[in-house]
This record gives sequence, C-alpha cells and structure tokens, in this order.
Amino acid sequence: MSLNRDDLIEALTYLREAGVNLVAWPDGPIDDLSLPLDLSPAEAVEYVTDPDGVVARRCGVSVNDLIAWREADGKYRCHAITCKGKRCRHVVAGEYWYAFERDPAKWASFERLGRCCSMHGRAAQGERP
Ligand SMILES: [Zn+2]
Repeated sequence: MSLNRDDLIEALTYLREAGVNLVAWPDGPIDDLSLPLDLSPAEAVEYVTDPDGVVARRCGVSVNDLIAWREADGKYRCHAITCKGKRCRHVVAGEYWYAFERDPAKWASFERLGRCCSMHGRAAQGERP
C-alpha cells in the first residue's frame, strides 16, 4: 500500500471531522506515566516517521532535551560532579520532581539552572565539593 502524504492527511481529516480522535502515547520517563498527545492529521502522518520530533515540538523542547528527560527518568538531579568525576545522582531536594516527569519543558528549564542537592549545596556545575 502506498499513499501519498496529502491523501493520508485528507483521509485522517475526514475521520477527525466524524469524531475520531488521533491520540499517540509517546514514551515518557516511566511507561505508565507517558503522556497522551492529541494529534492533528498532519502531525499524525509525521509521527509515523519522526515521533520524537513531533513530541519535542509539541512540548516546546529540543529532541535532545526530550531524550535527556527520558534518560533522567524525568527526575531533576544534582549538577555537582563527584570526586569520581561523575555527575551526582541525588534528586534535588525541595523540587517537585513529580511535575518534571510529566513535563519535559519544565524539566529542561530546571536542568539549565544547574542546581545541586543538599549535600553539595550551591556548588556550581562542574565544581567539586
Ligand atoms: Zn549532589
């Protein structure tokens, strides 16, 4: 079966106008917390070949941020570098990480702040305690 993009969009638009929703369940940090995404007919067609691109655009983040959000389990982690040269794995205290698991844009904006856990205080990113 070979349909061109415009024919697909036309068919999906027809279905949508009849009340059929186009909902994707993209991968989230944790399977049962994935977010339902209501797609337009054009997004649905694009989603087939570039799901991360569609999700990232809809969430207002880059594809790299989306992937990093998943890899961090949606949790906002300390930015200090340990004496072993690895990034501290502690979740930053006082931050409502539950929201980060559902919102990659919120996660990415906090990630840029470079905050640290209570053990590492306010050490700047890359600074060794
Ligand atoms: Zn830390």
